[in-house]
Amino acid sequence: MDTEIIVHPDRHGLSRYRKLSYPARYGRYHEVRFAGHTCHLNLGGEIRFVQGSGPDWPHPMEWLKRSLGNDWIYYSVRGYDDTFDRIGEYYLPCFSYPGNSLLGSIDFSQPPLQRAMRLPGSLAAAADRLLREHTVESRAAEVLTAIAAATPAHLQARARRLQRILRARIPVLPPDCRHVDYDVIPVMISEGCLYNCGFCRVKTTAGFRVRSPADIRQQIDALAEYFGADLANYNALFLGQNDALAAGSATICRAAEYGYRRLGQERSLIRGPVVLLFGSVDSFLALTEADLARLAGLPQRVFINIGLESFHGPSLARLAKPVHPGRVRDAFARMLAVNRAWPDLEVTCNCLLDETLPAGHIESMATVIADTLPHHYPRGTLYLSPVAGTGEPTLLLRQFKKIQSLRRIDTLLYLLQRL
Ligand code: SF4
Repeated sequence: MDTEIIVHPDRHGLSRYRKLSYPARYGRYHEVRFAGHTCHLNLGGEIRFVQGSGPDWPHPMEWLKRSLGNDWIYYSVRGYDDTFDRIGEYYLPCFSYPGNSLLGSIDFSQPPLQRAMRLPGSLAAAADRLLREHTVESRAAEVLTAIAAATPAHLQARARRLQRILRARIPVLPPDCRHVDYDVIPVMISEGCLYNCGFCRVKTTAGFRVRSPADIRQQIDALAEYFGADLANYNALFLGQNDALAAGSATICRAAEYGYRRLGQERSLIRGPVVLLFGSVDSFLALTEADLARLAGLPQRVFINIGLESFHGPSLARLAKPVHPGRVRDAFARMLAVNRAWPDLEVTCNCLLDETLPAGHIESMATVIADTLPHHYPRGTLYLSPVAGTGEPTLLLRQFKKIQSLRRIDTLLYLLQRL
């Protein structure tokens, strides 16, 4: 293997997230050429992106990304001409863990991907050797020292440390995180959710609990230290967990405002600070106009994603989701009203695709959408999400097309992504 390392420290990427059909990097990063790969590293010297240049790399426009949770995600352009129409992005993220994608995945066992995923080890060793055997110019030496420390064990330990700071795992992120390529700083302001629905695979099963102000502050202080110089590359906070909206606007705003200052969102190299969170039918309907005004007054743009699942009583009963269908319809109508009235808030919602639900699930969804929206309305998105690991993709994609073809609200597939 060619073990020469070429380091380009402190490259500058784009300063605003954009929907692009070619590889792009954001913020400030180090670029390293090593063993037939181009690696993009965060400012702590940890690999974030890898692109192979050899003839067996699946596609010259595709790359691997390593998440904060130390998962590999492959960004694919091939074979999915209608990817943008289905997920609102030009690249299809393929996960190295089980997911709910209807659009296929990639074989992570193929040699070029296996080689790329082993790069943290070989790159760290090569950087260590280079530093010991040669004199290196000072900034490159600093970067190489960080790379040498970013061994696979170190990366795994960093992922575990993040969980210790949060005292939780993030089993799923809101679909709106796609607008920042899922590069969010997570802060747990609550745990669990109000319903513990029978069908759900991402619930905690414990009851809903709001974290104390001191706990939230401690997390944010620890996160500032954890991200270090790389804070400059984040413009997004995710307030967890599965129904953070139920924590109330005072808790949300306190966390968002403290995070904005302490995590440097005001100085981020990526413009347009955002806060993202999940809500539920009841936590959303409980918001008063004063709550909405408080949320809209935050320095960040706020994205709230509401889990509706179904407008159909028998289907909600089958899903063991303890919500009346009338409340689900009310939440959908209120989502539209909030999106019309508050330009700095964007509310989106999720419903399920499922061929095994009682007849009427998809039909009632189509009826509610058509009755509530006489024309296409451009704000807010309806995300449709198959339950992970169930259903025949062709049938579920037919259900998706049926709802999307109403053309009343942007309708996309929700690919469950963890942190
Ligand atoms: S679907 Fe949402 S509300 Fe229901 S259990 Fe899962 S996370 Fe909780």
